[in-house]
Amino acid sequence: MTKKIQAVYQGCFKNLDEIQVSPMSRAFLFSDSIYEVIPFQNRNLICADEHFKRLSFSASELKINLDVEKVKKEVDHLFKNSLCNDGYIYYQVSRGIDDMRSHLYSPDISNETFGYLTPIKFLSRPLKVAICEDIRWGRCDIKTTSLLGNVMQMNNFQDKNCDEIIMHRNNIITEGGASNIFFVRDKKICTSKLSKNILPGITRNILIKVIKENNLPFEEGDFSIDDLKQASSIWFTSSTKGLASVKEVLDCNIKLDQNDELLLTCQALYKAEIIN
Ligand code: PMP
Repeated sequence: MTKKIQAVYQGCFKNLDEIQVSPMSRAFLFSDSIYEVIPFQNRNLICADEHFKRLSFSASELKINLDVEKVKKEVDHLFKNSLCNDGYIYYQVSRGIDDMRSHLYSPDISNETFGYLTPIKFLSRPLKVAICEDIRWGRCDIKTTSLLGNVMQMNNFQDKNCDEIIMHRNNIITEGGASNIFFVRDKKICTSKLSKNILPGITRNILIKVIKENNLPFEEGDFSIDDLKQASSIWFTSSTKGLASVKEVLDCNIKLDQNDELLLTCQALYKAEIIN
């Protein structure tokens, strides 16, 4: 199944199933690694520079020495050598492979890099979601592969057929398990303000830019679950989902309008922005 997936490991391009990774990789032992998912549609990479910038930020926060020009070249090579129209490139950088397992890393360790390209269909269908506590660590603004809090909470609701979760810390909404969250309340678009508790999503950023350019009513702030319960529409943003609206919140009687004017306007503006 992985045979046709084009990948790059430590600078060598090969099929995904030909890659062998050391168990002494700090990504394997400690999740001491960062990543990006760079989408493309109709053979156009979407906001690649913003993804490289965020990868550089994640690297600098973890004090991983990153040659971002090398990453760009490898991503470009994967992209140009693929015939696929719509998909994404996953790219991961770990601190490296150490001789010994120790929380303290060797000072002379060099990066371990890995990327692959895979096709996807960007079809967003209305989602069923659940509200739950945000149990993650205190630096969710860094895009690390350490995603156990997200994984645990998202999988807790799989048997209820939920596609996503809405997380909160002390009743203040943070974000989704793999996306940022927006909602409309009293005819105003609301989203959680940036902090160390959420990832600064690239899709979130594109949407806020077009919302502001079009003078739509908008507020970034601290919103509670009670605020969310008054929403006329809710949607998530992410590189792979685009803008995905919510049709149902588990165990909550929120009436959500799939044709909410501000939701449809945002979907149209976002689509126009990424096509250009
Ligand atoms: N928050 C989390 C926790 C995510 O994992 C993601 C992306 N997968 C996002 C937000 C959305 O970020 P982006 O729009 O850059 O894909």
